[in-house]
Amino acid sequence: MSTEGNTSNVDIIKCETCGADLVFDPGKGVLACPYCSNAVKIAVEASQERDYFAYENFGGTESFGINFKCPNCNADVVFEKETAGQCPFCGATCVLEKSAMPGIKPDSVLPFSVDKGGASESGKKWIKKRWFAPSAAKKAFSIDNMNGVYAPCFSFTADTFSDYQGRLGEHYTVMVGSGKNRHPETRTRWFTVSGVYSMLLRDIVIESSSHLDQKQMDKIGPFDIPNSVGFKKDFLAGFSAERHNETIKQCFGIAKQKMTSQIRAGILSKYRYDVVDYLNINTTYNTVRFRHILLPLWVCAFRFKQKVFNFFVNGRTGKAAGKYPISPVRVAFAVIGGLAVVAGAVFLILKMMAS
Ligand SMILES: [Zn+2]
Ligand SMILES: [Zn+2]
Repeated sequence: MSTEGNTSNVDIIKCETCGADLVFDPGKGVLACPYCSNAVKIAVEASQERDYFAYENFGGTESFGINFKCPNCNADVVFEKETAGQCPFCGATCVLEKSAMPGIKPDSVLPFSVDKGGASESGKKWIKKRWFAPSAAKKAFSIDNMNGVYAPCFSFTADTFSDYQGRLGEHYTVMVGSGKNRHPETRTRWFTVSGVYSMLLRDIVIESSSHLDQKQMDKIGPFDIPNSVGFKKDFLAGFSAERHNETIKQCFGIAKQKMTSQIRAGILSKYRYDVVDYLNINTTYNTVRFRHILLPLWVCAFRFKQKVFNFFVNGRTGKAAGKYPISPVRVAFAVIGGLAVVAGAVFLILKMMAS
């Protein structure tokens, strides 16, 4: 029986036909029964933004599922149901924590669209393209363990007003000397700048996971944030989510650095200059809005010569990145190859100078 016309609510987690637990199906974007053909559509809602300043020093507990703490790697993991699942990061069995965990609940989620099979294919393609990975590792590659986890992040949108003052320089060339010594010389014409600058910065995304850093996030990114939808527990069925690790205030601090460099670039784009002596910017953040977003991530592990290597796959694009074994022989070849190129270049230059 197919109930495709039905829409789910938080309470429909079981299959109406056979009583099994429904799981989120990334390929179809529905809650599907693993045993019969039953599928339930998820009523998608738009995601809402909140006022940052009202939450800047938030110390409460907003719950959105059942909280678990991994005894092995310390991750705070949220599951949709009350059975202890596997820790998505280290594979250990999570122990149920009865107490609520501090933090903000998600406003938005970017649902998985790459399923387990797709993620595993991406992993195979990724390791094949790693030039430094030993051939034996590529041949023996098989994924040991993979878990779909929603990684927490904060997205900020800010209306900013800045005043600035600075000193920029433009290069020009003059001819100096006389006779045989006459030659061009580069000089700098300095000028001061000052003014005001308004800029609206949208969707600056900062990760707040304890198991993923911004660099790894940037490597498997980008994520199509504008396609995120309002958070519903349904998207967690069969998956898990990590509780945010850094506070919203810490994340906004990092977002501000990113915003400052965009504001700086915006101000400088108004001028013709070659060098910046200094540029002081004083920014006021008038309105700041945020969304706590969950991003889909496949956390995968494979084994090579008794060692475990972890890598991540973007649950929207299939882009993979992470750790892999390095072949010393291949590195040596690359170094020798690099030296040969340098030696060749030196040889050519010497030859040119000699002629
Ligand atoms: Zn069923
Ligand atoms: Zn763990």
